[in-house]
Amino acid sequence: LYSCDIFSEIGERFLVIRPKSIASLRSAVTLIARNGFSIVPRGAGLSYSSGYLPDEQRSVILDTTHLTRIIEINADDLYVTVEPGVTWESLYQALSPLGLRTPYYGPFSGRFATVGATVSQNSVFFGSAAYGSAADSVLSLEILRPDGSVIATGSSASRFEATPFFRNYGPDLTGLFLSDCGAMGVKVKITLALLQIPPATAYLSAGFATAESMLSVMSKIARTGVATECFAFDPFLLEARIASEGLKSDIGHLLRMSRAAARTLPEYTKLMLSALKGRGDLRSSHWTIHLTVDGLTSPEVNHRRSLLEKMVESQRGEVISDALPRLVRAKPFGPVNRILAADGERWVPMHALVPHSRALDVMAATNAFLESNRDVMREHGIRAGYLFMISGRNSLVIEPTFFWPDAHYEIHKTYIEPERYLTLPGHDRNVSARDAVSTLRQNLARLYAERGCAHLQIGRFYPYLESRTDEFSALLWSVKSVVDVGNQMNPGSLGMKRKASEF
Ligand SMILES: Cc1cc2nc3c(=O)[nH]c(=O)nc-3n(C[C@H](O)[C@H](O)[C@H](O)COP(=O)(O)OP(=O)(O)OC[C@H]3O[C@@H](n4cnc5c(N)ncnc54)[C@H](O)[C@@H]3O)c2cc1C
Repeated sequence: LYSCDIFSEIGERFLVIRPKSIASLRSAVTLIARNGFSIVPRGAGLSYSSGYLPDEQRSVILDTTHLTRIIEINADDLYVTVEPGVTWESLYQALSPLGLRTPYYGPFSGRFATVGATVSQNSVFFGSAAYGSAADSVLSLEILRPDGSVIATGSSASRFEATPFFRNYGPDLTGLFLSDCGAMGVKVKITLALLQIPPATAYLSAGFATAESMLSVMSKIARTGVATECFAFDPFLLEARIASEGLKSDIGHLLRMSRAAARTLPEYTKLMLSALKGRGDLRSSHWTIHLTVDGLTSPEVNHRRSLLEKMVESQRGEVISDALPRLVRAKPFGPVNRILAADGERWVPMHALVPHSRALDVMAATNAFLESNRDVMREHGIRAGYLFMISGRNSLVIEPTFFWPDAHYEIHKTYIEPERYLTLPGHDRNVSARDAVSTLRQNLARLYAERGCAHLQIGRFYPYLESRTDEFSALLWSVKSVVDVGNQMNPGSLGMKRKASEF
C-alpha cells in the first residue's frame, strides 16, 4: 500500500511508522533523523504526484492517520486546532452541530483526506469559490523539525500568552510551511479559521454549448465572489462521474440523509425530485457548471442566484436541474469510488491554476495538445475529460483527467467500497499505456510551466524548482537549509533533491 499513490508505484524498500501520539511522533522523528534516514510524511495517501513516495531506500514514511485529535474548537475567537491526521469529514461532523465550519472545508476526497496533508500540498474544492484554497484558511501551525524542535507560527509564537488567532503577526512564517509537500517539516498542529454556517443556501446549474462560453461565465462569477462553490465538467467527464458513482446511489443516499437529518417532507421531496429530474437533464446538456450560494437570508441568496442566472444568460447558457450541487452539499464527503472508472479503468487527474485572462488560451493549448496526441491515445485506449473549478477571485482551475485500461493498485482496493469494487472489471497490467499516460502528463505539465501556470499538489511531479528564477530557488534552498539542516525532510519533493554527499 505504501509503495504506490493513485498514479505511481515504486519498488523502493523503506520503513513505515504510524505513531499514536505527537509525543511518540516527536521521539521517532528525532531518532530517525539522528540515524541519517530521511522523513517522508503521509496522510491518507490520496494524491497522485508522488508526494510521499520516497526517493531513497533509507527513508521512513510517517503515517499520520492515527493522530486524529481535535484539540480545540474556539467558537468565541473562531478557530479550530487539530492534529494532522484529522479528516475533513470528521472535522466537518464535529463543527456542524455547533453551526460552524472552516472557510475552505475540504477536498472531494475529504472522507479520508487529512487536514495536515491537505494544507501541506494545498487543495481546492469546498468553499473555494468564496474563500480560496486550503492554505488560505490556515491561521497558525506547529512544525516538528528533524532535530525534534517544534516551531509555532503567527500569534502562537508568543513567549507569553500564545493564542493561534492571527496569522500575519510579522512576516508570514505560516505560509513558509504551507504547500511545501512536507519539505520544510512535519505539521503536528494546524489551526484553521472558523465561520458561522450561513443559514440560507441556493443552488444553480447551467449548460453551455462550448467550453469557452462556460469558462467566461466562471471568470465573471469568480470576480464577483458571489458563489461559495463552483465546479464544472465537460460532457465526457460528467457522464463518467454519473456512471462511476451513480445518481442511483446518490438518491439512496439522499433517503438516508433526509431521515438522519429529519428534514421536512417538502424539502426532502424537492431533493428527491431534483435528483431524479437531474438524471436525464444533466446528461443532455453539454458543458455544465454547478454552483452553491450561501447567505444570511433566503432573499439574499435568491438575489445572488438571480445575478448568477444573468451571467449564465449573457453567454447563452441554459439553466438546468440543480440536482448535482444539491447532492454534493447534502453529503459533501462521499465515497471515493471514482478512483477507478465504471468499467474498472484507471483514473488520474492533473491540473493548472490560471489567471482569468489566460484561461481560454490555456484551455485551447490543452485541447491542441490532446488533439496532437490523438493517435497515441487511441493506440493505448486512453481517454480524457475535464473538471473545472474556481479558486478565490483570481484564478480558475483547469483539470484534465485521464482514463486507461490497466491493473489496479493496492490503494484502489483499499479505498473503493468493497461491494462496489466487486462489481468492477479488472484489467491486465498495461505498462505501455501507463507509460504513455505518464509521458502525456509530463509533457502537459511542461506546457503549463511554460505558460506560467501554478499548481497545487506539486509533489515530485510538477516542474516546480526548475521553473523558478535563480533568485527564488537560491532563497528557497537557504530557507530549507535553516529549517531542515540535514535536508532530511521529504527530499525530492518540490524538486529539492538531496546531493549524493548528503546521503
Ligand atoms: C477521489 C479523489 C478526489 C479528490 N478531490 C480533490 C479535490 O476536490 N481537491 C483537491 O485539491 N484535491 C483532491 N484530491 C487530491 C487529494 O486527495 C487531496 O489533495 C488531499 O488533500 C490529499 O490528502 P491526503 O491525506 O490523502 O494526502 P497525502 O497524499 O497522504 O499527502 C499529500 C502530501 O502532503 C505531505 N504531508 C502529509 N502529511 C503531512 C504533515 N503532517 N506534514 C507535512 N507534510 C505532510 C505528504 O508528504 C505529501 O507530499 C482528490 C483525490 C481523490 C483520490
